[in-house]
Amino acid sequence: MPVILSKIVRRKIVVPSSQSVSVRFETKDLKPNHKHQTMSLDTTIRAVQKKLGVTVDGQPGPETWGAIHLAVVGKNPAPSASLDTIVRAVQKKLGAFEDGNPGPETWAAIHLAVVGKNAQDVKKGNDTPSLTGEGKPADSRSEGNIATLLPRVRPFARALIEKAANQGIIIKVTSGTRSFAEQDELFAQGRTKPGKRVSNARGGFSNHNFGIAFDVTIFKGSTDPEKAKTPVFESPVYKAIGALGTELGLEWGGNWKTIVDEPHFQLRPGWAADLRESDMLAELRERKDSGKDFFA
Ligand SMILES: [Zn+2]
Repeated sequence: MPVILSKIVRRKIVVPSSQSVSVRFETKDLKPNHKHQTMSLDTTIRAVQKKLGVTVDGQPGPETWGAIHLAVVGKNPAPSASLDTIVRAVQKKLGAFEDGNPGPETWAAIHLAVVGKNAQDVKKGNDTPSLTGEGKPADSRSEGNIATLLPRVRPFARALIEKAANQGIIIKVTSGTRSFAEQDELFAQGRTKPGKRVSNARGGFSNHNFGIAFDVTIFKGSTDPEKAKTPVFESPVYKAIGALGTELGLEWGGNWKTIVDEPHFQLRPGWAADLRESDMLAELRERKDSGKDFFA
């Protein structure tokens, strides 16, 4: 799938009038990578329509918007709702500019939400994606965290960093695997220990406890990843990173419905494709106890 990029100007996504959604990071001295194709608005709309099983004509009307509303907002629009109301509800839900007049930004967000979300469903029945080779070594901080991941997951983290770098975006893996004890410590914070609550999961109940999950942070301050030390925690660019990860076959936390977690990526084992997160974690705990391969 082509990469969706967005040009960020004062945190607002501006798209060229050619109606192609092309993306570029705010660092001006970095050139976008033209190897990646851009996706035309027509292609984006048709892909969304195809995914939703409505008429594929690139001309979204009430049928398409009703289906988008159901997919994005989680329920059918009220029978009396005007198209404008439906569009605005979708835009609001996606954090897109809420004007009832969907342009490339809204469509890129819809595409991510509708087509990206079910990347796992598309792969249903297939094995877990795998990458050959170790990938290009990343910056030292990332490598330290990548080393805590299962060998099978490491090339995915490096590939994601490299794909982002090709777009002029520096990301680092800032969190990898935590032991059950470390997870318990984290869970205690803000509960039985001082501090802000940072986790809702006890040891064994976070996907970070099994070597399959990692978090990334965007960094700026230099074009050299080793020297870029300024973290960027809030940025619409996380959505673009999410799309890159989804392309690789990773599951992206930004597509989760309950707790949206944009920095989070994980390699979901093939057997867990249709499982709820809690059921996957239960099976992982069992496999850990019995020494069984997590991906077999
Ligand atoms: Zn995470």
